[in-house]
Amino acid sequence: MSSKISANFNAGSGGDVIFQSSNSVLFYVHKDALGYNSGGFPNADMVTVDTEPVPLTESSEVLEILFQFVYPRRHPGLDEMDFSLFIALAEAAEKYEVYFAMNMCQSRMRDYLPRYAAEVFGFAGKHDYPHVIASVAPLLIGKPLTEVAHVLPVHLFIPWSIYQQQWTNCLQESMALHTALPRCGRSPGNHEPLWYQKILELQTHLSNNITRLQTPDILFREIIAGKDLCKQCTRNFDKWKEAIQAEVQVQPDFLTFWKHYRSSESDIGRERMVGVSVLCLERGSH
Ligand SMILES: [Zn+2]
Repeated sequence: MSSKISANFNAGSGGDVIFQSSNSVLFYVHKDALGYNSGGFPNADMVTVDTEPVPLTESSEVLEILFQFVYPRRHPGLDEMDFSLFIALAEAAEKYEVYFAMNMCQSRMRDYLPRYAAEVFGFAGKHDYPHVIASVAPLLIGKPLTEVAHVLPVHLFIPWSIYQQQWTNCLQESMALHTALPRCGRSPGNHEPLWYQKILELQTHLSNNITRLQTPDILFREIIAGKDLCKQCTRNFDKWKEAIQAEVQVQPDFLTFWKHYRSSESDIGRERMVGVSVLCLERGSH
């Protein structure tokens, strides 16, 4: 089968190892450059141009960009790249440890938010980029688990499910906090319809978009300010807002939650180990 040859990495540009993309394009690359700027391409030390090309699972489109990052020259800026190509590049950079590409992809992740928040979250969880996880998690707490689950790495699935459930509980509690407030004593006939209408509006906004819990100031200003409520009603809404703020404040950010989850998980693991050893000892003594 005759293969195509890369426009940028070919016999003319030199190179002592040949890689073959998944769509059968050949790339001539210098081993030295790979050695300095990447952690490991398969068999790169063992082959020469005289032997068979080394097959890679990435497409030529990905490799054409990736190999640019192993040479000491101006690297591609990755502007306005289609997300599917970008994430394939980012995965390849991690897999072969192409350091400059890893850094560039990591700093470009933000360009794909909020649209690809779930995918970016999954990537950051898989390759352990805590600051990316931290910035993306708040965007996802309102997304149904069915939209996030397929991109989550296995080790994140349970902690994320629990974390999201905590936010759902926080939402339910926040929406009901107004019931603890004293009702407006002034001419209830005139005040109550507006009071209940505003409660309903606030609850609808919150349940349609759970992330609004994080900025109740903005939400309450939007719904309550300048809406002909008496002083007492306005004060009541202020109290409700403050109660929500207090409720939200005690919710941990995802990284903190995850850290606790992992340490409690390892405690359970230890208990199980102790349980098993006790069992073995008991059996041994019979
Ligand atoms: Zn009132």
